[in-house]
Amino acid sequence: MRKNRYIWFNGRFKKWSNAKTHVLTHSLHYGTGAFEGMRFYDTKKGPAVFQLGKHINRWIYSMKCLNMKPPYSKKELTQACLETVKKNKLKSGYIRPIAFYGHGPLRVSPKGLPVDVAIAAWPWGSYLGEEAVKLKVSPFVRIHPKSTYADAKITGHYVNAMLAVMDANKDGYTEALMLDYKGNVAEGSAENIFIVKKGIIYTPPLESILAGVTRSSVICLLIDLGYKVREKHLKLEEIKNSDECFLTGTAAEVSPVGKIDRKKLKTELGPVTMELKKMFKKVVSAEINRYDKWLTIVK
Ligand code: PMP
Repeated sequence: MRKNRYIWFNGRFKKWSNAKTHVLTHSLHYGTGAFEGMRFYDTKKGPAVFQLGKHINRWIYSMKCLNMKPPYSKKELTQACLETVKKNKLKSGYIRPIAFYGHGPLRVSPKGLPVDVAIAAWPWGSYLGEEAVKLKVSPFVRIHPKSTYADAKITGHYVNAMLAVMDANKDGYTEALMLDYKGNVAEGSAENIFIVKKGIIYTPPLESILAGVTRSSVICLLIDLGYKVREKHLKLEEIKNSDECFLTGTAAEVSPVGKIDRKKLKTELGPVTMELKKMFKKVVSAEINRYDKWLTIVK
């Protein structure tokens, strides 16, 4: 299926099946990769990457958290993402860039190791499905912000996320809801969380969560729609008793939540969530001029 696809690897395109790394790659052993996930959408002007600049900035930030010197400039990394979409003749889908410590003398310190960079892209449909999401409160606490750079997108962090999502899936839930070390609601395994209560929208502050690009975009959209949005520590009970609850993320886009553990929420597809979902779809499809600045057209 992916035979005819190409992956950008250290400055040039390699055939999908040839984009390989050594088994002694440092990041394979120690989780020291910095990565991103972006979506691009089919618009009348061509494929358009959503918030490319913000994703590239976060990617570079994650590299710096790992003491990685980015081997390419911001401009080169941006261009490489766009070229990967173009080279693969894709109209809409997902881009997965990753920077990782390559192989060399293996020890925990990556000092002296090369930094390898790869960018893949593929078509991608809905991540959490079309129905309202069922969340299971995870027995795994979200990584402690003083144990790592919890706001960076680092591969090793996703052991925590993977354990949470597998535990939720095994019990028949769509996704995990993780609490932070203080017992406040943090986020899903790959999404930020919002609730609506009496017309006001609440979301956890940036403390032990990933600073989602969709999260900040959606906050902007909600304000533009006339809603009040507040960052606030949320307890599980507040989420369970909310009027509406939804998740945001590059993969999940805007996904309504219908159930948390065994508790059905007041609404499955609440009016604010659905209004936002509709608006988000229009924005990413380049149907509202004022948000065209969030889109980079692949030419
Ligand atoms: N939290 C985590 C842990 C994630 O992996 C993601 C996906 N990148 C998100 C939140 C949502 O972030 P974004 O909107 O930037 O995709």
